[in-house]
Amino acid sequence: MTQDPYEILGVSRDASADEIKKAYRKLARQLHPDVNPDPETQERFKDVSRAYEVLSDPGKRAAYDRGGDAFSQGFGGAGQGFSFTDIMDAFFGGGAAGGQGRGPRSRARRGQDALIRLDVELAEAAFGVTRDLKVDTALRCEACEGEGTAPGTSPVTCETCHGQGEVAVVQRSFLGEIRTLRPCAACRGFGSIIPDPCRECSGDGRVRSRRTLTVKIPAGVDHGTRVQLTGQGEVGPGGGPAGDLYVEIHVEPHPTFTRNGNDLHTTVSLPMTAAALGTQLTLPLLEADLPQSADTADGEKPATTYDLDVRAGTQSGSEQVIRGFGVPSLRGGRGDLVVSIVVDTPTRLDPRQEELLRELAAIRGEETPTGQAEAPHKSMFGRLRDAFQG
Ligand SMILES: [Zn+2]
Ligand SMILES: [Zn+2]
Repeated sequence: MTQDPYEILGVSRDASADEIKKAYRKLARQLHPDVNPDPETQERFKDVSRAYEVLSDPGKRAAYDRGGDAFSQGFGGAGQGFSFTDIMDAFFGGGAAGGQGRGPRSRARRGQDALIRLDVELAEAAFGVTRDLKVDTALRCEACEGEGTAPGTSPVTCETCHGQGEVAVVQRSFLGEIRTLRPCAACRGFGSIIPDPCRECSGDGRVRSRRTLTVKIPAGVDHGTRVQLTGQGEVGPGGGPAGDLYVEIHVEPHPTFTRNGNDLHTTVSLPMTAAALGTQLTLPLLEADLPQSADTADGEKPATTYDLDVRAGTQSGSEQVIRGFGVPSLRGGRGDLVVSIVVDTPTRLDPRQEELLRELAAIRGEETPTGQAEAPHKSMFGRLRDAFQG
């Protein structure tokens, strides 16, 4: 591990103060514990912060350039030797002091996730759809490139904590005096103060803005499904990385189809005569009347109807299952279409129709039905009860 602060920051020995600052900010954004908490990265972040502390201070930089040891003096305690945090770090490894001693905290933090609701039709949820969404989130301020400083200005080192972001607090205890580090109130722990904040974003480094986002909703989403769009949420303060955007799907009810998992249900009514004699129905299918989802891979239009054979003697309330005509699953495959059949009993018979029906009843011996009791249809509950009583 190099001890050369120039190497640590990746700058040349004649780098300007501005170049050093830029290099540090770039590294700090990648390595800051708020962004990347793994221990190895935190160690590198400390090294980078220490290197920056030397090179950002003209006196310390000059002393190092004259051949001094960059890390022999002044770290963690402004020239007063070991701080409490250093001792804790030495004994327990970094981070043992409960988040203390991390140096100045970065202004850049990850932004929050955002959630928006999208109303779609059943067919759009089933077959997928591409939509343009108006999204209202924080975006990086272009005027200051997320830095929060007015053009041509820079943050200045906090005088209270000398850029440490922390101040030492001495407490008396039975062990003697214990030095602990607290975040600096003057700079809120940043180690620097923005004297002239960017007017566009008031120094936050981000502005609220409305934009249009083209979102592809995959086939098979259901009511309540959240589609994750990585990095499309709120941009973080100080030019920090954006959170994710979640699009929560709300499916509007369809007039004739309902959905149960990946199965679709629909009900068709049938004249009594057709139910008795059998027939073929042209059943309209759920279809997406949107051009982008109406085309299949080979360019053929998917079928919009299904020829359903209704066998003679079909009962009212019976169901017919059409395999593979339900909703495509997000994990592949497709559910079924379940068709419930309702038999229409004719009303308002004219004399001729009534005559024919009476004749039919006579032939079938159905003139005086007895209203014979039938064994109840065994429901799930009934079978369960039988199982317990048996
Ligand atoms: Zn700005
Ligand atoms: Zn401070």
